Amino acid sequence: MAKHINFARYLVDKGGFPHEIVDKALQRVGEYGTLTPGALAGIMEADFLIPHDRVYANLASYYSFEELEIDPEALNEKVIKANRAILAKFPEELKKKLLYHHILPFTAHNGVSREGLKVLASDPTNKLIQEIPKQTPYKRIDVYWCRLHVIEELVDKIAPQKNEFLKLLTESGELFIGSEDSQPELSEQALDEEINKSLLVHLFEGALIDAVRSDASDIHIIPADKRSVDIFFRVDGRLQLWLRQENTAPEALAAVVKDRSIGVDRFERDTAQDGYAQRMIDEHLIRFRVSILPLVSPEYERRFESITIRVVDDRKVIKDFRKLGFQAQAEEEFIKAITTPKGIVVLTGPTGSGKSTTLMAALHHVMKPSINVLTCEDPVEYVIRGARQLKISHKMDFEQALRSILRHDPDVVMVGEVRDRITADIAVKLANTGHLTLTTLHTNDAPSAITRLYKMGIEPFLLAYSINIIIAQRLVRKLCTHCRRPLGQEHWEAALQLGLSREELASGSIYEPVGCAKCHQGYSGRINIAEALYFYPEIRNEIVLAGHEIDEERIRDLAEKHGMLSMRQSGIDRIREGLTDITEVLFATSED
Ligand SMILES: [Zn+2]
Repeated sequence: MAKHINFARYLVDKGGFPHEIVDKALQRVGEYGTLTPGALAGIMEADFLIPHDRVYANLASYYSFEELEIDPEALNEKVIKANRAILAKFPEELKKKLLYHHILPFTAHNGVSREGLKVLASDPTNKLIQEIPKQTPYKRIDVYWCRLHVIEELVDKIAPQKNEFLKLLTESGELFIGSEDSQPELSEQALDEEINKSLLVHLFEGALIDAVRSDASDIHIIPADKRSVDIFFRVDGRLQLWLRQENTAPEALAAVVKDRSIGVDRFERDTAQDGYAQRMIDEHLIRFRVSILPLVSPEYERRFESITIRVVDDRKVIKDFRKLGFQAQAEEEFIKAITTPKGIVVLTGPTGSGKSTTLMAALHHVMKPSINVLTCEDPVEYVIRGARQLKISHKMDFEQALRSILRHDPDVVMVGEVRDRITADIAVKLANTGHLTLTTLHTNDAPSAITRLYKMGIEPFLLAYSINIIIAQRLVRKLCTHCRRPLGQEHWEAALQLGLSREELASGSIYEPVGCAKCHQGYSGRINIAEALYFYPEIRNEIVLAGHEIDEERIRDLAEKHGMLSMRQSGIDRIREGLTDITEVLFATSED
């Protein structure tokens, strides 16, 4: 019997995986073409969201690889050095590939024993391991399975990713950049000299790299005072101070940013400017959207600017809709809504609520070569392979692009945002002429999106019959599973008022954040909470009958009868699942 089928049986019999999931994964292995246990494990992880270690522990034991348990915290300097010496004998290219695939040559002692070199791998069946005896002096290797986070921590200690720019920065030491107090305004010539000073260039380039690696969504560069600049990263929705650069005139750093970005004028300091930059970072092309705004400065002779840089990392685009992690009914209705060949799908929520991530995943779900997907956004956030993305500029503005879109024979249209009557009209027209239209709005909840569109001037019956679904969403921070603890009794009253029961609280399954080395203040990553208002016939009918006022409450009641979770209820379910805590849900839903 083929090995991958054997392994599938093993997963069910020994691993305790439900056979429905394993069977589905098996089917997919067939579609993808590589019929190996490793491929099956990969699909279980990537497509069925089974935690890496759960799948690969089984793969390792299926092939009789032993697990090597190591406490990375316990490594001393000598051992770290010995490990670096081993890695130094590896060709650079191979080393990079191995580390990328979480494969690490390792010794727990001061050198390699006579028996051979230990190789740790999160997937011990990875063929790349066979390259080690071929390309390095280590001809005898023993392969062990190792948990993913252990390898990651070991790599952090033994072969940390280098940020060359920041290294240069620390090497160059303290250096005063910018004006002395006697020189109130920086001359262009003085600025020119400073741009050439490598320190600020290293600082800027180093910040770009570090932001990508820290998973930051934005970089903020803000004058702190006339001689220092603060650089913040936004991670998981919160600003964190990355660095305060002392002894630097804010104008000097601003000039460097402008000089190294495209589409901004360095000599302009009184108007809003938008530009961009792109860099290869860790072998990926990362784009940055640079926005510059003049600020009032307490030193009235100085010209301060605020700089915000959006990190656009295409690797973050979630293409698999199921990975967004919507709750069951919302996911089912959402998929139903986007697989209908016509109608409008609206995502609503404030800025930073994850709408564009959801929109991208929805678009990837429907995209295939046989349909024409057009997008009209200003600005374009992600480059989408397989879609034609209209280029908005001063020669073709958003409105003109939209007006022309119908003549371009689309099947699916993504309209960045419904901003006004014109956009709304076109979205409705597209929907009513047999196109699927995906778009976003800025409202707090799903029912109020209907009112918003109505107030833009769209007739109720048109709204009722052109919309498929409205999803309102927010992101809440996820509790770190390493340090979360059961909610303290002093918070029980608030939890009870939110609708949790005394039994749930007493059982210890409702958590609060603590904070540890693996997280930010008790949180790590984010998850959505959502209100999915699917347009069932009763809801369409209610809107048609609305007359001059959309009755949001009645629509909400009807939808909740169909099982819609309100935003808050969705959040409470996430608390019950142990994923987030009451303060996050209260904060995210406080305006409801
Ligand atoms: Zn933690």
